[in-house]
Parts: sequence; structure tokens; C-alpha cells
Amino acid sequence: MKRPVCVLWFAALSTCGAYDSEPPNVLLISIDPLRADRLGCYGYARETSPALDRFARERAVRFELAVAESSWTLPSHVSLLTGLHPLTHGVDQPDLAPGDEVEFLAETLRREGYYCFGLTDGGWLSDTWGFGRGFHSFATEDNTFSDCVQEATEYIGHREDKGPWFGFLHTYDVHCPYDPPEPWFSKFRSPESEAIEVGGLCGNPHFNGMELSPQQVAFLSDRYDGGVRWVDDALARLFAYLDATNAWEDTIVIVLSDHGEEFYDHGQIGHERTLYRESLHVPLLIAGPGLEPRIVETPVGLTDVVPTLVDWLDLEKHDRFDGRSLLDLLRGHAEYDPSVQRWSHLAWKSELLSRTSADEQVILDIGGGRLQRFDLKSDREEQRDLCASGDCQGLMERLEQELSERNRRGRSTYVIDKLRDE
Ligand SMILES: [Zn+2]
Repeated sequence: MKRPVCVLWFAALSTCGAYDSEPPNVLLISIDPLRADRLGCYGYARETSPALDRFARERAVRFELAVAESSWTLPSHVSLLTGLHPLTHGVDQPDLAPGDEVEFLAETLRREGYYCFGLTDGGWLSDTWGFGRGFHSFATEDNTFSDCVQEATEYIGHREDKGPWFGFLHTYDVHCPYDPPEPWFSKFRSPESEAIEVGGLCGNPHFNGMELSPQQVAFLSDRYDGGVRWVDDALARLFAYLDATNAWEDTIVIVLSDHGEEFYDHGQIGHERTLYRESLHVPLLIAGPGLEPRIVETPVGLTDVVPTLVDWLDLEKHDRFDGRSLLDLLRGHAEYDPSVQRWSHLAWKSELLSRTSADEQVILDIGGGRLQRFDLKSDREEQRDLCASGDCQGLMERLEQELSERNRRGRSTYVIDKLRDE
């Protein structure tokens, strides 16, 4: 017998969610900008992530190929928290914010009786762009993730209302200027690295035209790794708290990132200008009541997170999402599906569209019409463009066709129109 979880006076306003027992809490953690291949559980050799590795080994479903829908913070987080693709929500410029027709996850869960708190590191993740919508408590303080974890545990521990809660935690601790405190600052410093002053150069893909040497790039990359371990050590304390309070039994825990980071993989540093694998491939780890640790190889995306939660919590079903529920994949009820394609998009500092599948990555320069194609089975680092050797006959026409087919709301006609204008 399912019982309603929303209070009666909400019933006239919304369709009540239903759940077999007390609905689980939801803890969503975004580590901005963490590329998947810097974590041990995704194959990295350095010990950057012992807590996340243990989480993946003992509790979580790990998605081998999770693809961000954009490579910068604003559109990617809007996609994560609404289930809508950037080509649908259209928040792809700094002066744009989601309209009232877009619903954020906190708005959905609050309507269902959840207490919602958000602790973000500010910047794009502020109320200016609507990210505070739906939260009972929303703070955008410039704190370390360690502070964020401390505050989160206090929120959870001191709540008087014993209903379900939703916590959203976000941090820039691994972000440029890659400046964790000691001992993390020096933890992974390679002997051959050469120190470079980062100063105000973040966001500049070539550090003001400087051609960084491999030794300087190594210095920045080493510090980035130190930041990852800094965050992981804070996560270890959060996970210990969940252990001590037996919270795993009634809490869905999701750890991910909004996009990756480049370290001269393709000639520049940072993010938000390209759609290569290092910018798009993010970690996605999901644990929750009834789940067993497993690895899922079907490609997934950040837009799948909200529909998954809506499905899991048995809330109102609707078709407003671009993403799809991963619940069958989480529970091991779905087979590997190599036909899945994930689309990513940029429209601010670059105008690019990409299509990622398990085997292949295609990147389209929308303005210039240039195509690149990479075989991910033989060229994971995306260094050999098959289009450059003439192996892309008919690809543009196929992309147009596929875009037309996935165009439910008309937004992607913008891409097709631009291609035809060129
Ligand atoms: Zn970001």
C-alpha cells in the first residue's frame, strides 16, 4: 500500500508523490570541475580519491561514461538540476537565467514535502541564475568543501522536522587557480614540474598568450590533483558521518561533476571552450537504498539525474525531461546499450556541438562547419581526427537528420539553421 508523502494542504496544488515506506533523503554533491580520469575508481594511478574509490567499491553504482551536456558551469548545472538539455533550457550565455517555466529539482522535492538545503561555492551557482529556487535554506558562501561538509552534517543532525531532506553541495576547491592548502598543495608535485604564477589568469585558455611548457602544465596539473585529494579527504569525513548515523539505509547519495578540465590535452588549459573528452567526461556515482555496487557502461548524462530521482521517489510522471531515468541501469535490470548517444553544446566562448557514444565522439564547429570524429576504442585521448583523413563522408547530413529527430521543442533548429546559413 503506497502512502502519500506530501502534506494534505499541498494536495490541491500538486500530485502527491507516493513511496512504499518513508521516502529516502537525497544528497547531491557537485565537485566542479572534476574530470573522471583523475579518480582512482576511473583508473587514475595517483591516490587522489581513496574515499570515492571506497564509495564506488562498497556502495555505489559507477557510470563508466557519464557525459556533461556542456563544458561550463552555468548551462551544465541548469541541465543537472532541471533534466533539460542546454538546447532546451537555452541558458548558454552569462546574461541568461532559467525562466519560470523551468522547474529545478529543489522546487520539485519541496513540493513533495522535502526540506531542501543548498550549500554552494557561489559564482555561477548563486541565486542570480536561479539556483536558489525551491530551497528552504540556500547559502553561497566562499567556503572550503571541508567547511561545506561540516555545515551539511550540522543541518542534517540538528533538524527538528524528521521528514525527508534534500541537500545540494557544490565546491570549486579543485577549480583554477588550483590552490589547495598544504599538505595537498605539494602532495603530488612531480620533481620535473616548474612553478608558474597563476594569479588572475583563470579563464584564459593560454594564460595571456603564454605558451606553457610541459613542466609548467605538470605543475598546474599536480596542484589540481592535490585539490582532488583535498575534496576527497572532506568526503571521507562526510561518509564517516553517514556511517555513524546509519544514514546510508535511507539516503540516496550522488557524486558527480558539472564538466572536466583541460591540461593541454588539446592545446589549452581550463574549460568552457572545447567539447573534447577531458572537458565532458565526468564522474557519476550513485548509491542508495537497495542498490549494489556495479559498473554501468551504457553512456549517460547529467540530464538523467533528475528523471532518475523522480522515478526512484515515485513522484509524478511527466515528459518534461530530455534525460531519462537510470533506475533500471542502477538496479541491474537493463542491458548494456551501445546505441545511446549523448549530445553536448557550447554557445558562449565557442559554438560547438558534440555527439558522444560508447565508440565514437563527433564534434561540430557550428559556425565554421568543421567536423571532427574520433574512434574512442582505439583513440581514447582523441588525438587522431578521422575527418582530417577524409573519413566523414555524409556525416554532416546524418547529424542534421539526428538533430531533427531529437528536436522535440524546436530549440535545436537553431543549430540546423546555422549550419544551413554557412
Ligand atoms: Zn563548472
